[in-house]
Amino acid sequence: MTSTLNLFFLFKETIVYTGIPIPLIHPHTANQDSSLPPPPHPLPTPTLSVIIPVYNEEDNILPLCQDLLAVLETIALPFEVILVDDGSLDQSQKRLQEVAAWHPSFKIIRFRRNFGQTAAIMAGIDHSLGEIIIPMDSDRQNDPKDIPRLLDKLNQGYDVVSGWRKERKDNSLIRTMPSRIANRLISKISGVVLHDYGCTIKAYRRSVIHGVKLYGEMHRFIPIYAHWMGASVTELEVSHHAREFGLSKYGLNRIVKVTLDLIVVKFLGKYFVKPIYLFGGFGLFALLISFLSGGYAVYLKFFEDTSLIKTPLPLASVMAFMIGIMAILLGLVAEMLVRTYFESQGRSAYLVQSTTNFPPADDANP
Ligand code: UDP
Ligand code: MG
Repeated sequence: MTSTLNLFFLFKETIVYTGIPIPLIHPHTANQDSSLPPPPHPLPTPTLSVIIPVYNEEDNILPLCQDLLAVLETIALPFEVILVDDGSLDQSQKRLQEVAAWHPSFKIIRFRRNFGQTAAIMAGIDHSLGEIIIPMDSDRQNDPKDIPRLLDKLNQGYDVVSGWRKERKDNSLIRTMPSRIANRLISKISGVVLHDYGCTIKAYRRSVIHGVKLYGEMHRFIPIYAHWMGASVTELEVSHHAREFGLSKYGLNRIVKVTLDLIVVKFLGKYFVKPIYLFGGFGLFALLISFLSGGYAVYLKFFEDTSLIKTPLPLASVMAFMIGIMAILLGLVAEMLVRTYFESQGRSAYLVQSTTNFPPADDANP
C-alpha cells in the first residue's frame, strides 16, 4: 500500500476541515498520474479490523481517520476500518462518505437511527473480516498510536488485550469515581480482573469472540465473554486524551445501566444453561422459610397459647410459599427457553477447542 507521505505529495484537491487538509483523491486515481505501482485490486482480505462507533462526531472524523491511516500504514497487516454511524444528526455521515471516497479500506455502516455504542460495535464486528478486531472511540480520546502496542501484546500469546486509561483525561470526579468503583465491582463479580472495563480500545482475536451477541451497554464486558470462551485476557496502559470537539454522549444514568447489565452478565455466566438452579434454589429457600414460619406459628398456637392472628408468621408463611412456588415455576419456564435456544439453533452447551482423529468435515462447534 502506498504510504501516506506519498499520497500527500500526490493529491491535488484537498478539503480543509477544522484546519486539517485531507486528500480527496482515491488511491486508485492518485496512481494514474504517478510512477507508483497501482494499489492491489481487489484489496487483500484484511487481517486487522478497526471498528469505530460514530455518533455526532463531525469535527473528529477527518482528523481521526488521518491519524489512523498514518499508523495503520506502518503495520505490515492488511487492514480495514469500519466506521458505524449510529444515527448521527450532524454532518458525520457526510464526513464519513468523504473518508470512504478517499480510501477504500475505510468502510461505512449507517444505522437508521441511534441504537447506541454497543449496537454500533456489534454491527462493526458482524461486518468485519479481520482475524484481529480492535474497537476504538471516534472522539479521538483513544490514540491510534496504541494499536501497534496492542498488536505486540496480542503476539505475546494473548487473545484479548484490554486498554487501561491509567491517566484518564475526563475531568470530573463524577465520571472517574463511579468508573473506579464499577471496575472493582465488575472484576470481583466476573472474576476477570481489569482496571478499566470502560475503555473502548481493546484488541481481540476473532476466535474468542465468535458468536458473542451484545445488548445494552455490554460492549465493555466482551473480555468477560472471551474469558468464558477460554481466552487469555490481559491489559495494557493506553493514552487517553481530553475531548477536543463535541460532547460526551453519556450522563450518570449509565451507572444504572451498567449495574443492570452486570447482573445480566453474572446471571448468564453462571446460570445460562441451568436457570432452574437459580430460580429453583431461591424457590426452595422461600419454601423453607414458609414451612419454618408456618411451623413456628402452629407451635406458638398449641404450646404457647398465642393466637395465629397475634404474629405475622402465618402471613409470612403464605407469602413465602407463594413466592417459592412462583420462583420454581419461573425456573421451569426458563429451562424451556434454554432448550428452545439450544435446540432450535442446533447449538451445543459446550465449546470444543480441537478434535483429533475425527474426519476434517466434523464441525467442532455446531
Ligand atoms: N457513541 C455511539 N452511540 C451512542 C453514544 C456514543 O456510537 O449512542 C460513540 C461516540 O461517538 C464515541 C464513543 O461512542 O465514539 C464513546 O462515546 P463518548 O465519548 O460520548 O463516551 P465517553 O468517552 O464520554 O465515555
Ligand atoms: Mg469519549
